[in-house]
Amino acid sequence: MSKSNKVYLIYAGLGLIPILLLLLPQADPKGTFVHAFTTVFPYPLYMGFALVGFLCFKINQNRMLFSVLLLLGICCLLFNPLALHFMGIKTWGIYNAVAISFPLTLAIIFSIRETRPMDLPNFSRLLSSLIPFIVLGYLASRDVSLFNKIALFKILPVKGFLFPQLALVSLAIFAVVALLQKDRIVKPFVRVFGITLIPLMISIWTGLALYSDIWKRLAEKLPRRTVEDKEIFGKALNADVLTSFPSLPIVAALTIICAILLHAIFRTYWHRVYVDELTDIANRRALDERLSHLTGEYAIVMMDIDHFKAFNDTYGHDEGDNVLRLVGSLLSEELGDRVYRYGGEEFCAVFMGVSAEDAYMYANKVRRKLEERKFYIRKPNSKREYTSSSDRKRKKKNGKKVQITISIGLASPNKKTKTTEDVIKLADKALYEAKRKGRNRVIVWEIEGVKSAV
Ligand code: GH3
Ligand code: MG
Ligand code: MG
Repeated sequence: MSKSNKVYLIYAGLGLIPILLLLLPQADPKGTFVHAFTTVFPYPLYMGFALVGFLCFKINQNRMLFSVLLLLGICCLLFNPLALHFMGIKTWGIYNAVAISFPLTLAIIFSIRETRPMDLPNFSRLLSSLIPFIVLGYLASRDVSLFNKIALFKILPVKGFLFPQLALVSLAIFAVVALLQKDRIVKPFVRVFGITLIPLMISIWTGLALYSDIWKRLAEKLPRRTVEDKEIFGKALNADVLTSFPSLPIVAALTIICAILLHAIFRTYWHRVYVDELTDIANRRALDERLSHLTGEYAIVMMDIDHFKAFNDTYGHDEGDNVLRLVGSLLSEELGDRVYRYGGEEFCAVFMGVSAEDAYMYANKVRRKLEERKFYIRKPNSKREYTSSSDRKRKKKNGKKVQITISIGLASPNKKTKTTEDVIKLADKALYEAKRKGRNRVIVWEIEGVKSAV
């Protein structure tokens, strides 16, 4: 499983926490913990969402900024459900309106094309995504019977199902938009927003459950319940109490959503700082930081694509970029996170705690793998996004096969080297030797000079 898929899985797992919190009334019958949690947490949460919004704005992502602002608004509403009572909207109505309209609103937001920052027409288009909220809000305050029909509208004949079934339609629409999303920057964020819908929907469901007798039935069914416990449950069912405090699952769910979004946006920033955009492997800055921490036994491998200028001149710069992607993906397949893009068509690998001999084995294996890998050119100067295996299969039919090779120089610290820069210089010298001796080979630099050539 890829690293980012693992992260998504962890996010989804965290999203299920509000379900576990349903068991908490058992552990905390007096509600002391719940009260402390629901009183304190909303404040850092508002700041958390505001920070995520600011960071989205800084990377010129209007749609992400808008969705976070919307979440902040929803957060305020769900924490203070009494806020809309003066408009005649009941807490029950707020929960239903949010459940039905939020996924739909996200779907509208992410179907709008991103334009330059703070573009007014774009902003007004984004505002149009609020229509589902406005319509439902209006109905909830003016035509309660119609609103109730919408909230209780049944698509599936399930009895005692408290969640508005139209929310499932709205979620399905969002899922379609998320799957069709092409924008490379926004795609991971749409997924993250999709995942954050899990805790939000769970918390809304539990919120709605509070308003029904399901809670009461649950309390009666649970064994080992004393009469006193039942009384507490009974009190909790009192509508006055319910509407005056944000429920634990809601505070927990929004805390989880905020944490997931913060983590995701920091990952985006981290990616921008340390990952090379073209090849998707670690960049020179990441390498410099790695080198500053290197001690003990290690080996540095410098790699350079052979005759790359001639390749660019023959097939065009875009096809050259595809070769860089191919080499980058092969290197990270073989060497994992040891590999960095040094600059241009040069790559560097750092082997920590590995002898020069062992590093040589790795380097030579990579060289051979690339030599064996087939690369097909569809037509000179054609632009292509990725060099995936399916791409290559397609190309096989009508493409021209070309051979890509790399030369490799390898060095380890010795008595004469004082810093990692000195070792890099030796690896560079070895690389130069590899080029001089005819390319497509690995040269190891020993204290007295060149040791082995393949
Ligand atoms: P040698 O075998 O001696 O390494 O020959 P070479 O042509 O690869 O070496 P040279 O250093 O003269 O050429 C490097 C070329 O790499 C020049 C430049 O056009 C190309 N290059 C550097 N960065 C990029 C890039 O990001 N994309 C593309 N398409 N080409 C690049
Ligand atoms: Mg070069
Ligand atoms: Mg080169």
